[in-house]
Formats: sequence, C-alpha cells, structure tokens
Amino acid sequence: MPPPHGREQTLLPPDQQHGGPQHGGPPRSDSTAMMCPYCEAVLPSPGAAQCDQCLRPLPQQGTPVLRVLFPTGELKVSVGQHLVLGRDAGQSPVASTFTQYDNVSRRHSTVWLDPSGTAWVRDEGSTNGTFVNGERLPRGVEAPLKNGDQLRLAADVTGNVQL
Ligand SMILES: [Zn+2]
Repeated sequence: MPPPHGREQTLLPPDQQHGGPQHGGPPRSDSTAMMCPYCEAVLPSPGAAQCDQCLRPLPQQGTPVLRVLFPTGELKVSVGQHLVLGRDAGQSPVASTFTQYDNVSRRHSTVWLDPSGTAWVRDEGSTNGTFVNGERLPRGVEAPLKNGDQLRLAADVTGNVQL
C-alpha cells in the first residue's frame, strides 16, 4: 500500500543542535555531497584530497570548522559561510545568542572561515566595538582569529575562539 502522500522525505528534522531560526548552514558532509570551496564542483567523496575540477588541495575533514563559545551559545562556522553576529534576527541568523545584550548592535560583526582554514572577524560599524583579545578593531578591517582568542562584542559578551 503506498503512503498517503510522498512528503515524508522532505520532513527530516533539522540537524542543528541549537535549532536556529534559519537553516543557513551547508549540508552535513556525511549525508550530502561535498562541494569544492574554490570552484564549487561536487566532489566524488567527502574525504577527497584534491578537487578533480580545479586540482587544488582540499581542506580535510575535521579541520574546517570555526567555533565561538559565548556564554549564551556556541556558534559554528564552516568554510565559505559568513556569519553575521548581532541582535537583529533580520540581520543575524544567531540573533537569539545576543538579544539579551543591549550594547551589542543589531548588525555587529561578521565571522568567517576561508578555504585555507584561517578564521576572520570584521566589525560592521558596531556602536560599541568588536574586540580581539582586548584590542578594538577599526570598523571594516578584517582581523584573523586564532584558537584561544577572545572575541568580545561591546563590553558585554565574550566568546572563546576554537579552531
Ligand atoms: Zn575545485
């Protein structure tokens, strides 16, 4: 007997632990084809050492994730993803992490991970500043993040960088 309708396949539960308001992340590497971060060709296997299309070496599994641990939540950023941090849910998919901090701007900073595995942060013209290890970033300037760095938004909230 066929099922009453064929939609079950599309109703899988979200795979994010925190269940953010939007599912903007890339697919999980163990269930969906991986794409080359350089040319976006679909890779033959998730563990491929280089891309068949552009022949560039690929970041290996396990390394290309940036984590920032805030007291109110852990943010994960994959290669190629630009994550806006801020209090406005229309600007930031992780706004719920920051809503309780009045001094965090609606659109405060952006963090991302480049294909070489280097993490970056950029202040988006926030009112009260973005700080790396206590140093305020000039707005719009891209600053690298290293494992163990302290990323602070305004005076209010400090996250621990893990790479
Ligand atoms: Zn490629």
